[in-house]
Amino acid sequence: MTTPCISLISPFYNEEASAPLFIERCSAMLSGLGSSYEMIFVDDGSSDSTWDILRQAAAAHPEIRAVRLSRNFGHQAALSAALAHSRGDLVVMIDSDLQDPPEEIPAMIKLMREAGADVVYGVRTERRGVSLPLRLAYKAFYRILRWLSDIDIPAESGDFRLVTRRVVDILVSLPEHGRFLRGLTRWVGFKQLPHYYSRDARAGGKSHYSLARLVALAADGIFSFSMKPLRLATVFAGGFGMLSIAAVLYIVISRLAGNSAPQGWPSLAAIMLAGFAALSILLGIIGEYVGRIFQETRQRPIYIVDQQAEKSSHQE
Ligand code: UDP
Ligand code: MG
Repeated sequence: MTTPCISLISPFYNEEASAPLFIERCSAMLSGLGSSYEMIFVDDGSSDSTWDILRQAAAAHPEIRAVRLSRNFGHQAALSAALAHSRGDLVVMIDSDLQDPPEEIPAMIKLMREAGADVVYGVRTERRGVSLPLRLAYKAFYRILRWLSDIDIPAESGDFRLVTRRVVDILVSLPEHGRFLRGLTRWVGFKQLPHYYSRDARAGGKSHYSLARLVALAADGIFSFSMKPLRLATVFAGGFGMLSIAAVLYIVISRLAGNSAPQGWPSLAAIMLAGFAALSILLGIIGEYVGRIFQETRQRPIYIVDQQAEKSSHQE
């Protein structure tokens, strides 16, 4: 069996604090594998010195190629750009902040080879350096996603994963914009196996995922993979319909029983407000889907490349 070429791909957004150590640890790990490899680093429009670090690394090492996007397109878009630029037979996606230890990769490759899998995804058994509220938010996110999604996305799995070329080719060919790569990878199918590891704290800098960005990612995950929220309308309609029938029955029976006590306006107002609330929720849900349809129909590219750096080519 010929040894496969391995691509290590990674998005960078203002990661000057961890980039040098990340590159060093990845190089050390990859050169120990005994197969050919390349590293694709995508700078997602950083405003610090990240691009200089990546460009210099690419100029010094023939295995490194650096790509700079024209602005900040977001984690999932940067990862998509990196996937599109990779050429290896096996591709490993890894964050550049050293939260996912590169040293786990050899074990993931071994598992993939032995089991003949197409996807080996990292599952976090522990998260170091993440605050309790954020940890609870992550937990809730995965719970809700699993409950709502039409496909089964493994809990506690992020974007740290090893995939084969055929999976990469499929992912790259998917045109959708609301890219939730962990869901899309799951959707591709084939044999997928977990690799358990403990997630470290960031090597430096701070997380770019605020609660708001996490909610946006969760929305992409939910609305791109589930029709269940749309069906809520039917459930609500059924519930309210039954309630109104009960109310009518109550009025009729109490009239027949000679009980004509007036029902005050507060109860009426409460019923109306509850109805309006339900309607707004449903409108909001429909809006989420319509917005996504609008986004997809515009057919804009997912990212734009500004410049590239590699050893053989002329720089800038
Ligand atoms: N990232 C990116 N573009 C962004 C935000 C993040 O390329 O707009 C990169 C970032 O450099 C890191 C990875 O995506 O390598 C994950 O981001 P982060 O560590 O902030 O997320 P967390 O690990 O906190 O979920
Ligand atoms: Mg991180």
